[in-house]
Amino acid sequence: MNHHALNPSSASLATRDLAVLWHPCTQMHDHETIPMVPVARGEGAWLVDAGGRRYLDGISSWWTNLFGHANPRIGAAVKKQVDTLEHVIFAGFTHEPAVELAESLLRVAPPGLERVFLADNGSAAIEVALKMSFHYWQNIGHGEKTRFIALTGSYHGETLGALSVSDVALYRRTYAPLLLHPELAPSPDAYEGEPGETPVQVATRRLGQMRTLLERHAHECCAVIVEPLVQCAGGMRMHDASYLTGLRALCDEFEVHLIADEIAVGFGRTGTLFACEQAAITPDFLCLSKGLTGGFLPLSAVLTTGKVYAAFYDEYRSGKAFLHSHSYTGNPLACAAAVETLRIFADEPVLERNRLLAAHLRARLAPLADHPHVADVRQTGMIAAVELVADKATRRPFQADERRGLRVYLHGLDHGALLRPLGNVVYFMPPYVVTTDEIDHLVDVAIAGIERAVA
Ligand SMILES: *Cc1c(COP(=O)(O)O)cnc(C)c1O
Repeated sequence: MNHHALNPSSASLATRDLAVLWHPCTQMHDHETIPMVPVARGEGAWLVDAGGRRYLDGISSWWTNLFGHANPRIGAAVKKQVDTLEHVIFAGFTHEPAVELAESLLRVAPPGLERVFLADNGSAAIEVALKMSFHYWQNIGHGEKTRFIALTGSYHGETLGALSVSDVALYRRTYAPLLLHPELAPSPDAYEGEPGETPVQVATRRLGQMRTLLERHAHECCAVIVEPLVQCAGGMRMHDASYLTGLRALCDEFEVHLIADEIAVGFGRTGTLFACEQAAITPDFLCLSKGLTGGFLPLSAVLTTGKVYAAFYDEYRSGKAFLHSHSYTGNPLACAAAVETLRIFADEPVLERNRLLAAHLRARLAPLADHPHVADVRQTGMIAAVELVADKATRRPFQADERRGLRVYLHGLDHGALLRPLGNVVYFMPPYVVTTDEIDHLVDVAIAGIERAVA
């Protein structure tokens, strides 16, 4: 395996880091052989390390960045806010950035969403949505509704509630004894369809199975939670929008809420501002984070309907108020970054530009479909993924412990690209400021990395 050479100043920061820090989603022992990359600064789609080496951020720093690192517009908005009001308690007090953010979000969100509840990271937004849904049913006299329905292959975060409704074994298995027990419905993931089945046919069949599950369990369930169009952490698995349209109808018919987790797919990732738009649906709860602040600061929002809000609105002594708070709820710096991010969407033809970039990415990845170790090349807007397999005919995956994806990652670091495959899935989720030349670079590095990984 190939080792990324670090210059002295990178090496010393990495050494200090490894003496005191504990990183997320990492077996720290790996860093005996895998380099820790100290980042000195970011410029647009690029990260620059302490030794001046540049890496194209092909995954938008865990899907958060939209308009480039150190984006000057968002940076200026945060700087201005820093000198005005850094933070204030958000119970009993309010401020311009939070109000403007809520107004702006409701203007662009699917119709029917009328209230915004703020939290400070994606998992917290999921906790809020789960609790709010449960509490809604309790407030209207349906305390028997205490469970949730999630999809196989789903990922909604890693706090205990969010992990409970997630089905990625790597994250869930160890902590399973601590978790709630949702009903799992089979994912409409088109890759898992029967041979010859179209994505629409997979979606229809999966809706039939969801109906059966709801017939049995709707009476005890608060909500169905989904990642619209793309199950990201589960391997960038994609499904047809008709599944969402059908699911909305089923949730209405069986009187359970629909929670749309657009934490990863919101803000233009799938080609529309929100993925739900492609199915023309409005969920009862829309969870947003990641791109919400353009990748600058942690913040999340749960949008819900006037109907849900009304079920909590009563005299104090009714005891119906929603009970959830984080110290940094509605942080003004984060809200200012989010307001400016939404202004960029309003001022610039972001989605149109992304359509051209997505078409370029699609064309560049197309030849990989013929590769003997590639079972699938799929794309939804600015998310593209290549599924590596040991055997193309049977789609038999590479063993996880062979860590083929890690080889692509290491190849990327040596060749100026940050690619971070999810197991055997090499994916591309670049910031929207990427150029077609930069996409070429990313794809060239990925293809060479894939050749090394499957060898
Ligand atoms: C990242 C993610 C989360 C969790 O967000 P965090 O801010 O990492 O807690 C939840 N749902 C989806 C779909 C995500 O991609």
